[in-house]
Amino acid sequence: MNNSNWKIDIIDEIKQLSANLSESQKKKYQLELLEKLINRIEQFSNKNCSKCEKHKENIENIINQIKNKSSKKEYDNNLKLILNHMKEDHGLYRVNEKQNELMPIGLSLGLALGAGLALSLCLVLSAAPLELGIPIGSGLGLVIGMTVSASIGSNMDRKNREEGKLI
Ligand SMILES: [Zn+2]
Repeated sequence: MNNSNWKIDIIDEIKQLSANLSESQKKKYQLELLEKLINRIEQFSNKNCSKCEKHKENIENIINQIKNKSSKKEYDNNLKLILNHMKEDHGLYRVNEKQNELMPIGLSLGLALGAGLALSLCLVLSAAPLELGIPIGSGLGLVIGMTVSASIGSNMDRKNREEGKLI
């Protein structure tokens, strides 16, 4: 494929492909993200990033995988390779990436905190029955863990957006 026309041709191909996909399939294959990645790959391969140049082929494979309705896993693996390269070599992130990344951490910290709180509540309010101390403590811990991680994550995401670090 002619270099300068690569992006135009490939975006064109996606447009045609997307006309034959349902809304849920478009979401499933993250076509919007794919288009953004194509723009970035074009941008950086023009700046002599040899990995981006190679990922052009990967994008073509991905499009064929959508066309052939190959397994979603294969598609996800290919997409991940490109996303990792964008993050590691170009410092670019996905929308809400940090928030999603921190969520499981917030959840496990919340659970741990909740267990501690539940225990303290049961000890401190020795009069309070376990049936009260455990749900209140663990609920509170979870809420705190999730709220804190969500707010840290969304702050990091906002910073990424403000600094033009989104794909
Ligand atoms: Zn690159």
